[in-house]
Amino acid sequence: MSQPTTTTLLTALLLSAPLASAAFYGDPPDATHPWAIHDDNRAQPARVEPGHYSTQEKPGQPPSDAIVLFDGTPATLKNWVSDQNPKEPTKWVVQDGAFQCVPGSGYVRTQQEWGDCQLHVEWSAPAKVEGSSQGRGNSGIFPMGQVEVQVLDNFNNPTYADGFAASVYGVNPPLANALNAPGTWQVYDIVFRRPIFQDGKMVEDGYLTVFVNGVLAQDHTALEGGGGHKGRSKNHPFPEKGPLKLQDHGNPVRYRNIWYRPLPARAAEGGDVSHMSPEATAAKRAAIAADIRADAAKQTGTGKMLRLLESLVYAPDAATLAESSKLSADFLTSVKGLSGAPLDQKEAQIRQVLSALEYCAKAKAVPAALPEQAALAALIEKAGWNEKKK
Ligand code: MG
Repeated sequence: MSQPTTTTLLTALLLSAPLASAAFYGDPPDATHPWAIHDDNRAQPARVEPGHYSTQEKPGQPPSDAIVLFDGTPATLKNWVSDQNPKEPTKWVVQDGAFQCVPGSGYVRTQQEWGDCQLHVEWSAPAKVEGSSQGRGNSGIFPMGQVEVQVLDNFNNPTYADGFAASVYGVNPPLANALNAPGTWQVYDIVFRRPIFQDGKMVEDGYLTVFVNGVLAQDHTALEGGGGHKGRSKNHPFPEKGPLKLQDHGNPVRYRNIWYRPLPARAAEGGDVSHMSPEATAAKRAAIAADIRADAAKQTGTGKMLRLLESLVYAPDAATLAESSKLSADFLTSVKGLSGAPLDQKEAQIRQVLSALEYCAKAKAVPAALPEQAALAALIEKAGWNEKKK
């Protein structure tokens, strides 16, 4: 099936030029989708100034809303503490703009705690290759301190697959080995979602998506409890938030350009997404309808009628229906006595109102088609505007 192109969509919008918005246009909301297709009642995406990518020589710039955890300066060391004793500063050091593991000093963790996030971390295994398998350039990234995204020099170093660099350690191997050579920088871009538990039951698993140097390594991998060494893990509730931890596995692995962006709630947590539960959809539709009615209250005449009718597409309301019906009857009265040029001047508006009434009837936003629908259709026919269009 062919998809509408931008041109056809633009053409459609131009043809419907009398419509000030996308109301009465795309498929209406339904039991699990609170918004219509192309719904102007949805908020615009928040503006984020993008940063830029790193090069081997220079770390990149995080996006404008990123929370920076390490930017190469000793000042950002204050974001980190010893994991074993969070009251103590970390013994890891800043050297040449990198945050370097001091073997034997223990894991480090952030002071801050959070949950779901987009996480950006760059790391570099020692240029001097020592050890093999899990002993070469091993560290690890633990979102919420719960589950390890493996850091390991696997450039030319086989190991068990579920312990490979960018594995969800003990859970799932990466889809590919896209590592650079040891001593150079590797970029991990991670999307972390914690499991959602409600009343002691897991309603949605946690997930990890990981890109290694821009290559997909974990594709929305279910956490299955988070993995670990030797043991098969089980699903368990995660806390609301937790710190990011980095592993000391005895190798002086270096880190740079560490930042995250918190992620909005998913549908199961009441997030504003396209596809929701029937209960959440009903609540959202009621809220959208209330917002539109509040806007309608600031308007008069046809503008008010159209907004009120639009609100009925989201949620029924007897008083709104009564007022819409009255305004619709008023509109018909205002145009049905016209003829000649005064009537022709009203063509666009009459068509707009008819289109809104037809949409509401089709979407069952009104219990039965309002009588003005047939009357306006007849008026258009009588005026010969349909003939003119052919
Ligand atoms: Mg590790």
